[in-house]
Amino acid sequence: AAEWERFTSWSRGSGEHNARASQSLPLGVTSSFQHWEPYPISIESARGAWLTDVDGNRLLDLSMGFGAMLVGHLNPVVVERVTEALTHTGTLFVTPSPQATEMAERYQTRFGLDMLRFTNSGTESLMYAIRAARAFTGRKAIIKIEGGYHGGYDALQVSVKPDLADIGPADAPIPEVPFDVEAGTVHVIAYNDLGQLHRVLAEHGRDIAALVVEPVIENLAIVVPDEGYLAGVRAACDEHGVVLVFDEVKTGLTAGYAGASQRLGVQPDLITLAKSIGGGLPLAAFGGKREVMQVVVDGRMAHFGTYNGNPLVMAAARAVDEICTHEALDAAEAMNNRAMDAIDEIIRTHELPAHTVGLGVKGCVTWSATPVRNYRDYKATDFGLAELSWLWGVNRGVLTPPGLDEQWLVSLAHTDEDMAILIDDFRGLAEALRA
Ligand code: PLP
Repeated sequence: AAEWERFTSWSRGSGEHNARASQSLPLGVTSSFQHWEPYPISIESARGAWLTDVDGNRLLDLSMGFGAMLVGHLNPVVVERVTEALTHTGTLFVTPSPQATEMAERYQTRFGLDMLRFTNSGTESLMYAIRAARAFTGRKAIIKIEGGYHGGYDALQVSVKPDLADIGPADAPIPEVPFDVEAGTVHVIAYNDLGQLHRVLAEHGRDIAALVVEPVIENLAIVVPDEGYLAGVRAACDEHGVVLVFDEVKTGLTAGYAGASQRLGVQPDLITLAKSIGGGLPLAAFGGKREVMQVVVDGRMAHFGTYNGNPLVMAAARAVDEICTHEALDAAEAMNNRAMDAIDEIIRTHELPAHTVGLGVKGCVTWSATPVRNYRDYKATDFGLAELSWLWGVNRGVLTPPGLDEQWLVSLAHTDEDMAILIDDFRGLAEALRA
């Protein structure tokens, strides 16, 4: 209660802003994830690893746009390239462009994809990946992981530009279109449980188009796969002709140079990318094996989007691709590992029921003494302590992601001095908890 009182004392402007914004925007936000009680902090500007809120407070940003701001806010190279596109090249052609082709070629090489298409959000990429898997297999059902989040996609493929053959000549009455989304069955399985997957496939395998999974789950803090789990998933999908979709919206460039699949050595059929690849601009992609992407070539499915691969976003993407070298990412990862080691030391010293989990440039404190292997384990962690830990930080100028299922990100703009702030802050919390 004292920490919440402290929160409302320094963030009055955010409270007032939320009251105003709620008159026009449901909950006063532009995405439901931006909302929290009593109100979210409203940010006015950002630079490097730091945010300034509407009250003029400076906050160390460890959320970094839910991981999208890997290269840092207002990264000078991104700013320069985007400004160049904005002032000299143009922002939207809706035609093929060398800029989009160049980026596609770069991602082919970087992520080991045969073919890909650009979209504008992770949600769209997932929607199209599932559509591609359905077109490729001629099946409808999908498998997903219990507790996993993959964006806001819903089945929306009802009566879009129907064939003349279906609707009759110009003077024919407009036919009634049955509203039948037929989303298909979604089978839900626990992460890290190959037995469950095998059972679902044995019973329903012939109806299942795709299995969608984050290779490392980054929407339950961070949950890593057991040794051999992803290889087992790969083999099971092969056996049943199921398209394996790795949702790398979050792991993309943050799990390492070419995402979690390359890091962990298991190749999916399709991959979805978003967030970190765009340097803060709305860029996403889906792609993978040629035979699956062939459905877009031969017309078994279509893929649309006015803004797909626009030159403004491509300029940012090119800059991000150039900036995110092995060396740059390795340095940020080493910084992250040092911070996690320091936090683990504090956890040991104060005998806290917690441990850190990390992947690449991301990390989190999981408030349980034992490892989390799936959603149910995650739900059994101590959310009270997780919330207190977040609140403790933000009250002292350190903004980790407010959603307790997120993780911090060490961007290319963070320094060891910045990470020392996080560590000191955690030490303060540990001492208070033990006092
Ligand atoms: N997939 C995963 C794993 C995500 O974490 C998210 C967003 O957080 C999405 C998909 C959706 O991406 P977007 O918000 O760009 O639509």
